Amino acid sequence: MVKLYEYQGKEILKKFDIPVPNGKVISNVSEIKEMDEWFDQDVVIKGQAWVTGRAGLGLIRFASTKAETLSAASEMLGKNIGQHMIEHVLVEEKLQIEREFYAGLIIDDVSQSPVMIFSSRGGSGIEQISQQYPEAIAKTVINVQIGLREYQARDLIRKTGIRGKLQTQLAGLMVKLYQAAGRYHARVAEINPIVLTTSGQLFAADCRLTVDDNAVYLFPELGIEVAREFDRPPTKLEKIAWNVEKNDYRGTFFFIQMEQDFEKGDGYIGFHGAGGGGSMMSMDAVMKQGFHLANFVDTSGNPPASKLYRAARIILSQSNIDGYFLCGAGVASQEQFHSARGLVKAFMEKPLTVPAVIRLGGNAEELAIHIMERARPFIPAPLESYGKNETPDFCAIRLKTLINNSVAITDRRPSKKEITDHHSSYKFDTVTGGTVSYDYQKCRQCTTKVCVSACVSKILKLENDVPVLNITPEEAKKGKCSECLVCEVECFFEGNAGGKITLPVPGLEAK
Ligand code: SF4
Ligand code: SF4
Repeated sequence: MVKLYEYQGKEILKKFDIPVPNGKVISNVSEIKEMDEWFDQDVVIKGQAWVTGRAGLGLIRFASTKAETLSAASEMLGKNIGQHMIEHVLVEEKLQIEREFYAGLIIDDVSQSPVMIFSSRGGSGIEQISQQYPEAIAKTVINVQIGLREYQARDLIRKTGIRGKLQTQLAGLMVKLYQAAGRYHARVAEINPIVLTTSGQLFAADCRLTVDDNAVYLFPELGIEVAREFDRPPTKLEKIAWNVEKNDYRGTFFFIQMEQDFEKGDGYIGFHGAGGGGSMMSMDAVMKQGFHLANFVDTSGNPPASKLYRAARIILSQSNIDGYFLCGAGVASQEQFHSARGLVKAFMEKPLTVPAVIRLGGNAEELAIHIMERARPFIPAPLESYGKNETPDFCAIRLKTLINNSVAITDRRPSKKEITDHHSSYKFDTVTGGTVSYDYQKCRQCTTKVCVSACVSKILKLENDVPVLNITPEEAKKGKCSECLVCEVECFFEGNAGGKITLPVPGLEAK
């Protein structure tokens, strides 16, 4: 569920002819200074944040002059509310309030239908109203085949005791709200309050809209950078991670940054879970050992090795972490060696300089652990790998021991990158913008040709003793090359280091 700011929600409401107060959204006070026309009545200045109780946080202020407005807006812009910095302020005409109502549409998981709720009292939270004034609230389940009809809306409003012209006015507004919510795939669409002004007009004075994550791509005009639920704007690293996820539908890569402002030695670790339940269990285990999470990551649903590689690179880019902990449920059906190859490529290439404990429990875990073990001589930091027989608690204790015993890694061994001088002789592109390339000088001297025999997608063959595609490069790019990383990782272990896969992580290199 992606949350929209109030000003974005109001833009949508306007498109559906729901009246909103005359106003302007600003991100810089100079925009107020430069305004030629000014409101001909008092204004309200509203800091845009996804929090409740904005008035108590100083994010709702009233002003009568441009100077007062400037002062209030300057105080709000740039202010930090938790992890949320105020980047926009909405300056609106202050309404002359006669009465307030509430209308909200939610997608109810129990009835698996939209439910419209109306309250003859608005302003405060609907939960609070329902406790104090249950008689003020009515709701109805909507049949999506038919939609919300005006008579249904009138019935709903009538149940709260409202009659006559006001009932008709409110019903019309509610039908439009339903249409707006449907058009924008809203999971929640609330107007609170709907204000009846002293002159008898209805306005949406505030609104809360959330868009279903899967529908965000339909609305580029909303400028949503990350189609995930946040209580604050996404960080730079979260945007980088989202670009990996949104361009690769194979498996899931969920990344959220929990903390940015910490130093080495503060006990923050890069956390990498695998699977919802397993991740929760693993988080509990590390936190019991006194660690804090710099980030939460979940890679699950059978992601390719390349996705694991990019996830690990993003986690490791948090340079002040004290350790790396990957731990899942232990019974994953996905083949764990894909994850191992992704991690090994990241740990050897970066390289890893903090202690890491990796628990790759599940299908083919023995091979996964074997791959991790083979990489150890090329990784400067302590690295331990386990399968399902070792519990998350055991693994967390091992990480603590490794961190406590570790010394700053200064005389690090050469990374794989430094010991493999690569001259590309033959290359092709992969589905996520990567490039597979072979150095034929090395390939000719290679006795194993392991890339061909172990390629998971079986798309390579030998021609004149060197590997080439036995499909077209276009087919490889469309996804036939699954980015299993065999022709780099296994080649490094068993071949002659002639295979290389470049997997860009846009934004990370420049970060
Ligand atoms: S295993 Fe490596 S070195 Fe050997 S042929 Fe394949 S890519 Fe070349
Ligand atoms: S060419 Fe084969 S071995 Fe190499 S990454 Fe692609 S699928 Fe894996």
